[in-house]
Amino acid sequence: MPLQPLAEYELLAALAHGHLCAGQILGLRMALVGVKLLGLDDPSGKDRKRLISIVEIDRCMTDAIGVVTGCRLGKRALKFRDFGKAAATFCDLQENRAVRIAARESAKERARALYPEIAGPNQHQMRAYREMPDEELFHIEWVRVTLGAEDLPGYRAPGVICAQCGESVSFRREVVCEGRALCRGCAGERYYEPA
Ligand SMILES: [Zn+2]
Ligand SMILES: [Zn+2]
Repeated sequence: MPLQPLAEYELLAALAHGHLCAGQILGLRMALVGVKLLGLDDPSGKDRKRLISIVEIDRCMTDAIGVVTGCRLGKRALKFRDFGKAAATFCDLQENRAVRIAARESAKERARALYPEIAGPNQHQMRAYREMPDEELFHIEWVRVTLGAEDLPGYRAPGVICAQCGESVSFRREVVCEGRALCRGCAGERYYEPA
């Protein structure tokens, strides 16, 4: 789908996310800035094989980024680095360049100052985030992102069987401990305990 006006994306985002909120609008704007700077005018259509989005938070914003870019976790085009920051990096694999866009901390304050008369925690922000210029909303920086072949969509290789639990590990996510290939869980990163 070629790039749409913000209002169109708001409808799609509300459907995808379950409601429209300030975070969605911020995420839509962030993704629009990113793909435009990369020169992609059809990120979810003809340009879809070129784009990887790396998000740094799992909040409202994240769903909105998927709406504009078409990048999905299940397609390996959306990467989640859990930094807890309202930021995302958009990588163009074809041109080998990337731009990181972070919401400015001052944007919240600015939104409040712009529309003090609008009540509700979200409403003044929603309106302001629609209207504020990109440079007031975002800090924008060209960056270099190193992605391994195993991080890219379409990577094919047999999984490695974990020497401890016997489960298969894809995409070279195994770790070698004392000569044994282990999954990250067995290597000590397990996030669960048997109940
Ligand atoms: Zn939300
Ligand atoms: Zn294991």
